[in-house]
Amino acid sequence: MTNKTAITVAHGDGIGPEIMDATLRILDEAGAALQLEEIKIGKAVYESGVPSGIPDEAWESLRKTRVFLKAPITTPQGGGYKSLNVTIRKSLGLFANVRPCVSYAPYVETKHPNMDLVIIRENEEDLYGGIEYRQSQDVMASLKIISRPGTERIVRYAFEYARANGRKKVTCMTKDNIMKLSDGLFHRVFDEIGEEYKDIEQNHMIIDIGAAKVASAPHLFDVIVMPNLYGDIVSDIAAEVTGSVGLGGSSNIGADFAMFEAVHGSAPDIAGQGIANPSGLLLGAVMMLVHVGQGEVAGKIHNAWLKTIEDGIHTGEIFRAGTSKEQVGTDGFCKAVIERLGAMPDKLKAANYNGVGAGGMTLPPLKPRVEEKKERVGVDINLNWDGSADELAAKILPCVADDLDLSMISNRGVKVWPGGQPETFCADNWRLRFMGKSGPIKTSQVIALMDRLNHADMNFTKAVMLHTFDGKPGFSAAQGE
Ligand code: NAD
Repeated sequence: MTNKTAITVAHGDGIGPEIMDATLRILDEAGAALQLEEIKIGKAVYESGVPSGIPDEAWESLRKTRVFLKAPITTPQGGGYKSLNVTIRKSLGLFANVRPCVSYAPYVETKHPNMDLVIIRENEEDLYGGIEYRQSQDVMASLKIISRPGTERIVRYAFEYARANGRKKVTCMTKDNIMKLSDGLFHRVFDEIGEEYKDIEQNHMIIDIGAAKVASAPHLFDVIVMPNLYGDIVSDIAAEVTGSVGLGGSSNIGADFAMFEAVHGSAPDIAGQGIANPSGLLLGAVMMLVHVGQGEVAGKIHNAWLKTIEDGIHTGEIFRAGTSKEQVGTDGFCKAVIERLGAMPDKLKAANYNGVGAGGMTLPPLKPRVEEKKERVGVDINLNWDGSADELAAKILPCVADDLDLSMISNRGVKVWPGGQPETFCADNWRLRFMGKSGPIKTSQVIALMDRLNHADMNFTKAVMLHTFDGKPGFSAAQGE
């Protein structure tokens, strides 16, 4: 008898239980060798008073099996509930979110018949750190974190994925014309790691035009790698462009764990009606079978699914009179796929996972860090102020000792002193930049400055040390500086 792979399964909320039952039936009929461990997560768990939505026993199962097939869950509105997806991704170190976005023309209506791309989204960093502050009565701030190791891992994953899956091109998207340090690092690491993958075509696009091109000309793309927030947005655009959000599966991959799911949510509007399309979760399960080394069964299911779509057996949200042949519910669709196990699609590109290795990809170790000389050269101090920039400067200048300069004041990122434009709107949180007059400064100089500001009743909210690395500024200039 074949050894069964233990996996953790959650039926989720809304349409989750319906599409999970259908998916598991197909997996079973196809001969997937799996041993299921069921866990409860989601709405009922949140409402029983577990704010994370996932109880301790569930973590034990996940730690044991390391493979998780998850139906969508509902995050209750209000009440400060944490997103379960973000908790699971970050707790298990699932750094890569992989979303294939394929159109199935002419069988599923889409504006873009030739779309076949994969979005690889960084899953842990960026604005999803959730590090936010209220800085004043009027100003909120959110911190965007991009790290070199985090970027190296996701970029390398994208290139390795392209190689392992016969993809020819990797496109990186960032906004490094504005975020020169954070997005600049992502772009730079993409270029550096790309040097090791010369067999793969590679390019970079600014995210705004890149996202527009995904919507208008998706055939231009093959694999796209992006920081977290852009990846979140662009992958939903891409899923929509394929013709239905109900068709997309996705995997979340880490060094030790992997989670597989549908792209869509729990669709409470159609829950319990038996009409939900199980395809997204099923295609997530296909990715899971490849991951656990059951590529042959994965191919069998994927091809039976393609044949079902080709045969025009469609759930309501993709059913179109003329193109589709028979409208079915979740159960009817499930039976149609089971009947076609062993069949191949006639026109759509058949799936073949026979050569794809199990266990995801083993990435080489991170490149050793190149230490650069770090020197403290100044400090940015944020404070609340309701007057003008000139009045603020007049109040601050007497607090500045001989060894430091007040080099500029900015508001919402724009320089407003010295000089500045009278038209610039200023909120009540200001950033003051102090630089050492003669090279590097000491922490004690900053503390002495803050002490003098404190005695002058200045209401400061944040101080950030400014460093150079091998002489290059590790901080951005203000707009207009
Ligand atoms: P949704 O994806 O659940 O639904 C959007 C629309 O698509 C709805 O009209 C729905 O009926 C339709 N739809 C989605 N999946 C379908 C399917 N398989 N078959 C047919 N139609 C389908 O998005 P939403 O309504 O914004 O979110 C509902 C809930 O899901 C929210 O609580 C949200 O937090 C949660 N959610 C969970 C996940 C997840 O667990 N991975 C992801 C996204 C949203």
